[in-house]
Amino acid sequence: MSRREGIIVAIDGPAGSGKSSTAKAVAQALGYRHLDSGAFYRALTFAALRAGLPPERWPELSLVELDTLAVRADPHGDGYRLQVGGRAVARELRSPEVNAHVSQMAAVPAVREWLLGALRQAGARGALVADGRDLGTVVFPEAELKLFLVCAVRERAERRLKEQGVAAPSGEQIDAEAERLVARDALDSGRAVAPLLRAPDAVLLDTTGLPFAAQVELIVRLARERGAARPSA
Ligand code: C5P
Repeated sequence: MSRREGIIVAIDGPAGSGKSSTAKAVAQALGYRHLDSGAFYRALTFAALRAGLPPERWPELSLVELDTLAVRADPHGDGYRLQVGGRAVARELRSPEVNAHVSQMAAVPAVREWLLGALRQAGARGALVADGRDLGTVVFPEAELKLFLVCAVRERAERRLKEQGVAAPSGEQIDAEAERLVARDALDSGRAVAPLLRAPDAVLLDTTGLPFAAQVELIVRLARERGAARPSA
């Protein structure tokens, strides 16, 4: 096994719980790389939709067919850059269409098998903060620090809408987004393979009403207690 350059911090939780933005800020504070595993599932979903593959066919996708979708991830800056068909993708991965279909793609066993190797490879040298649904349970069960983030669903919905550029979401918009989040959580928690689950050794962190900076600081402190060194100046 290659030499580890630092610990692995695995952050899991439901949709909109603030995992990715938190993981990114924690990685920055520790001088680590950030791995947003949801973006990988989103890239495959985007690629399948773009290729005109109907979602009803996704459960039968083979590993070879997944290869033909031409999704690639390369280390870039302090994270990973995703490409589909040789073109960098970022904003496209957050479209309502991808949001609506990504959980169907993520429930396909071949998809999870296809991505597991790529995700583990990203963590082979440690010094990583990774977020998703099964990082602490399946991808990095050996992670030195695991967190499971939860947050009230209306607050998650409001955060998601603001992220999407809705400055002052109405009550109705929040309710509709909350419904979409609950539906996605149900699919992610109910699937047979690698469901959204709190690892028994994960620290449960409820971020409802918790200022962003405070939650980042708390996780950085825990990471240091578990062996993350300060980045060298
Ligand atoms: O975290 P994000 O909302 O970007 O994840 C998008 C979707 O990807 C999730 O709803 C879930 O279906 C899937 N996912 C997963 N396992 C992960 C990360 C994401 O199944 N580790």
